[in-house]
Amino acid sequence: MNIGTLFIVSAPSGAGKTSLVKALRENLDGFTVSVSHTTRAQRPGEVHGRDYFFVSHAEFETMIEAGEFLEHARVFDNYYGTARATVENALAGGQDVLLEIDWQGARQIRTLMPDCISIFILPPSLRTLEERLKARGQDDPDTIARRMRDAISEMSHYNEYDYLIVNDDFDRALADLRSIVVASRLKTGRQSEVYKDLIDGLLA
Ligand code: GDP
Ligand code: ADP
Ligand code: 5GP
Repeated sequence: MNIGTLFIVSAPSGAGKTSLVKALRENLDGFTVSVSHTTRAQRPGEVHGRDYFFVSHAEFETMIEAGEFLEHARVFDNYYGTARATVENALAGGQDVLLEIDWQGARQIRTLMPDCISIFILPPSLRTLEERLKARGQDDPDTIARRMRDAISEMSHYNEYDYLIVNDDFDRALADLRSIVVASRLKTGRQSEVYKDLIDGLLA
């Protein structure tokens, strides 16, 4: 059975990872986006189970103790984590899985799954990043200030990633992201599983 590839996408808050991943989903089949658990407050318009599983601190800690997370981290004073079961089942079923997680989570995943492919997204400038956070209209001014302060420490980890995309022109960044996923599917190891019968026939 073909095993899916695990992709990690990280970026400072507001750089556009959620928008890019959403557009990629509309543009390319065969992958699942992992829905994280978080203790942060639900934003207007966010749907439990679609954007995140919104849980209390106590519930999150119970899940940590039960070993239910593949990785988890504290980001902006809240817990965020990736549930183990969904990711492992999707990969085993041949689906590619995409995680939108921070650099701390990315480090944990690389240790567990060294074959994963990690992608970092940068904004074209700090000013643009702040404008996007304000334009998104989801966070109050204190939260935006906090996210801008944390952006630099998140971005300082860009060099730990396999690929780097600058999200200035959205369509260009989307094409870049798509290329990475498509190229990984064309790797010989994977293609030789998909085309096993063809190759066996050609070489018989
Ligand atoms: P947004 O990125 O501005 O939309 O803000 P979010 O509240 O959705 O995400 C906050 C941070 O948590 C980001 O750095 C995410 O990459 C990170 N994050 C989200 N889900 C997970 C997760 O499951 N695990 C880890 N480690 N980080 C996560
Ligand atoms: P993240 O998930 O990284 O926090 P979002 O995907 O929520 O970021 O994007 C933040 C805001 O910036 C959203 O309002 C989004 O529509 C906007 N945005 C994302 N990419 C671009 C781009 N290339 N040009 C202009 N606006 C963008
Ligand atoms: P937001 O609260 O704006 O949705 O997300 C803030 C940050 O949390 C983002 O940088 C996002 O990548 C990170 N994040 C979201 N889910 C997870 C997760 O499951 N694990 C980790 N480690 N980080 C996450």
